[in-house]
Amino acid sequence: MPEIPDLEAIRHYLAPRLAGRVVTETRAPLAWLVRTGPAGPPSLVEHGFGSIERRGQYLLFEVDDGRLLVVNPMLTGRFHWVEAETRKPPMLGLVFVFDDGHELRYSDQRRMGRWYLLDGPEALGSIPQMEKMGPDALEIDVEAFLVRMRRRNGMLKPTLTNQDVIAGIGNAYSDEILWHAGLHPHRRGATLAEEDWRRLHASIRAVLEESIALVDATVQAEGIGAKEEWRQHLKVHRRAGTLCPRCGREVKGQVKGGSETNYCVGCQPLF
Ligand SMILES: [Zn+2]
Repeated sequence: MPEIPDLEAIRHYLAPRLAGRVVTETRAPLAWLVRTGPAGPPSLVEHGFGSIERRGQYLLFEVDDGRLLVVNPMLTGRFHWVEAETRKPPMLGLVFVFDDGHELRYSDQRRMGRWYLLDGPEALGSIPQMEKMGPDALEIDVEAFLVRMRRRNGMLKPTLTNQDVIAGIGNAYSDEILWHAGLHPHRRGATLAEEDWRRLHASIRAVLEESIALVDATVQAEGIGAKEEWRQHLKVHRRAGTLCPRCGREVKGQVKGGSETNYCVGCQPLF
């Protein structure tokens, strides 16, 4: 599932490429992907895109007439920026053809992604998950974070990945952030002192910002489309059985409900 660093890198890659280009045709082989607005392909012909923003796990493409094209790529949604003659990927869902022969394509192997065409930013609340979404993990300041976490007694990992509490962190980066902060993923919120919460907030920023820089560099060099997430730099997530790069003890893995949680038995004590 793409998380903040993946989505930021896609956004940074696409924004300068879309700038100044005009859509000449839209195709929606999987028309039902688009959840609101008129049926069929979004009518963006003769329009261009402005800025691309991100909120939590959603990317927001601003259309030059004020409309907003919003997407949550979920597990397997991929963006492709290609020349028109490039071979089509499987499960192609949406295609925007531009006046210079480039295409922005979206494919989705498991067809779980969702697109929304809105009249403007004021309609974002009409997307059910966005209405109740918490502040973005990169935006929230430490004081607001402390207020938000004060009443939370759930385990740290599900708290961090709950998009209604704080948005944009998923299974992979919650492991990395908790490792960085030296906190066990199963610790309960009520066992943390204020300084622990402050350290966790600092780790969210540090891990995400460092990862954005690394993923950005990879994506600028390799392009998008081959993957939907870039994870080669992670220290503990999906590294069960390896040795912790900080303390040398073993990285453990626990699989629950199809998703894996990884932590170090040495520097992330439960109590
Ligand atoms: Zn360790």
